Amino acid sequence: MNRSSELFTRAKDVLPGGVNSPVRAFRAVGGTPFFVARAEGARLTDADGTSYLDYVCSWGPLILGHAHPAVLEAVRSAAARGWSYGAPCEAEVELAEAVRRRMPSLEMLRFVNSGTEATMAAVRLARAATGRELILKFDGCYHGHADGFLVKAGSGVATLGLPDSPGVPAGLASLTLTAPFNDVAAVEELFRRHPDAIAAVIVEPYVGNVGFIPPDPAFHPALRAACDRHGALLIFDEVMTGFRVAPGGAQQRLGIRPDLTTLGKIVGGGFPVGAYGGRADLMRRIAPEGPVYQAGTLSGNPVAMAAGLATLGETEHAGFYEALEARTQRLVRGLEQAARGRDVPARVGSAGSMWGLYFTERPVRNYADAKTADTALYARVHRALLARGVFFAPSAFEAAFVSSAHTDADIDFTIAQLDAALDEARAH
Ligand SMILES: *Cc1c(COP(=O)(O)O)cnc(C)c1O
Repeated sequence: MNRSSELFTRAKDVLPGGVNSPVRAFRAVGGTPFFVARAEGARLTDADGTSYLDYVCSWGPLILGHAHPAVLEAVRSAAARGWSYGAPCEAEVELAEAVRRRMPSLEMLRFVNSGTEATMAAVRLARAATGRELILKFDGCYHGHADGFLVKAGSGVATLGLPDSPGVPAGLASLTLTAPFNDVAAVEELFRRHPDAIAAVIVEPYVGNVGFIPPDPAFHPALRAACDRHGALLIFDEVMTGFRVAPGGAQQRLGIRPDLTTLGKIVGGGFPVGAYGGRADLMRRIAPEGPVYQAGTLSGNPVAMAAGLATLGETEHAGFYEALEARTQRLVRGLEQAARGRDVPARVGSAGSMWGLYFTERPVRNYADAKTADTALYARVHRALLARGVFFAPSAFEAAFVSSAHTDADIDFTIAQLDAALDEARAH
């Protein structure tokens, strides 16, 4: 038994499923997760000394790769000055200003400790500001694990939400309406059925939590217009896309100004940070300036703020995003060719350095399309790649990432390994 398996056995005795976040347990692809001992650049090294080229990148935060020297130095120097004050510090102001420079729609913002907290707070604010209770989300979009978001659609577009998880009160789930992504008519129908009752539409502008799904060009302009027409707020959940698909996130790439935006992942550079922000007239309703309560013992943590600042700073070097996007396109094209060369139906897509791969014939525009993907093939390919030193997400339904630590040689190595892995997976 290797060290990772030993640790997993111990872990399962003390942590549910042996993990602190479900997908890490490898249930969707089979096998035993490796336990990480250290990480640097584009590589993870496990407890048995095996290294993997990492396309999970901590599920999004690590746009610079692991243990980037500039971030490490910022974290060290911040920690040496103490790591939690319970009082404001300069780094919070600096990071807030840095975020606003990159995303001007966040006229004011508030830091929290995770993406989940950010979306919870944004929805509370939207309900308070509009005096309405319903929210509209899209099938397959993930907005963290708060009760009201753990809801999927029934069979019809106007079906009221049913809880996805035991423990979510039906009454709460019924406040969440769902529509298929990229389906403007379904959104309009929900607004018609629930006049003056929808507080906000919340959306992942590029879906990244059921694999990667880009929006149709007309989708977000139509959402923006529908929200304005019906007095609802538009919330862009940019926890994944923020500082990832463009310097100013999806809202810059798409040319849409949301009322509220939620951030996480890159904004903390791999430390536990989330943020929500937007129109100043809305944000001024947050306590203590206004009556909408939201707080956090560790919010604005000086070490985490330093990591976020250093990470954003590195991405401001000239050509950073262009180089990253070019490298991602090299990967995506290579993977597409590898699949085509073996007659494996595959749909590969990307925006900036966020990308995804589905083994399906069908163009993927929404969750229902995504579900046609061959998950058994993905699981075999995942295992074959892992054996060849490449770590893809341990689920067919997750977006993947390229970091600035990935080199062209890493990309070409990955394409060659996918070539071989497809052969092995099909021979199976
Ligand atoms: C990761 C993610 C979240 C949740 O963030 P946590 O920090 O895991 O709570 C919310 N929304 C989107 C779009 C995400 O990708």
